[in-house]
Amino acid sequence: MKKIEKVTELRQTISQLKKKGKSIGYVPTMGFLHNGHLELVKQARKENEIVVMSIFVNPLQFGPNEDFEAYPRNMEKDLQLAEQEGADFVFAPDVQEMYQGEPSITLNVTKRVDVLCGKSRPGHFDGVATVLTKLFNLVQPDKVYFGMKDAQQVAVVMGLVNDFQFPLEIVPVQTVREGDGLAKSSRNVYLSEAERQEAPALYKALLKGKTLIEQGERDLNTIKKAVEETITKETNAEIDYIEIYQYPELTEPENWSGDMILAAAVKFSKARLIDNITFAL
Ligand code: AMP
Repeated sequence: MKKIEKVTELRQTISQLKKKGKSIGYVPTMGFLHNGHLELVKQARKENEIVVMSIFVNPLQFGPNEDFEAYPRNMEKDLQLAEQEGADFVFAPDVQEMYQGEPSITLNVTKRVDVLCGKSRPGHFDGVATVLTKLFNLVQPDKVYFGMKDAQQVAVVMGLVNDFQFPLEIVPVQTVREGDGLAKSSRNVYLSEAERQEAPALYKALLKGKTLIEQGERDLNTIKKAVEETITKETNAEIDYIEIYQYPELTEPENWSGDMILAAAVKFSKARLIDNITFAL
């Protein structure tokens, strides 16, 4: 496996691979890898001749009061894990390599962002769309792997790929969880021991909501209340949102048919956790 830090080297490498007609699977990450990230690599490994991962903590997608500086990083261990899982290249540029000076164009995501995390993280998805546009242009992947843990991100990227006609396929991968149900996340390290014990209640609450929907409940407040009840009873976390939408449109449920998402975000003392369940009705 090879680590690449410079754009020029990545371009040369991709150009050679393309000349040889190699298929490229791509896994964008911010590093501090866990089994969730590695599941994306595993799937990419199965479906492509070449697997490229990127590790880049993208400042553009962090708000002024968010954790860009404190975001956990461990490049040495990440490289080991990526290699073990069979990645061929890890592109790990520094911020200067990706962004030089003031941009002359900025992207503004207009759909699927006024709900869920987009609502409380203004500009976040603009930053995601910008960095992915650059990375897609550099890596020129055939398939790109995203985790459904960040289901709104998948929905926004579907819009980006569609609007800008990137010649690639988005492959959504199911959320990887700890044994007790907590979705794996680089930010789980921010949880205190007591919070770590409470945190699986988030998924448990979502499962309860999903069951209610499957049993025929259609009143949004009743469903949200049931989810809220489990979270407040079992944790000291503050609820940011509990929402139900059509997926991937992220519009209000109308006919209660097709793909749906039930999603929630909660704030513990240092960690904001998100989770969701998508299901078909
Ligand atoms: P991040 O490093 O947090 O930007 O995540 C990089 C990719 O890994 C994104 O597509 C995430 O959705 C995905 N990912 C993160 N956590 C998980 C998980 N628990 N299960 C599956 N995919 C995940």
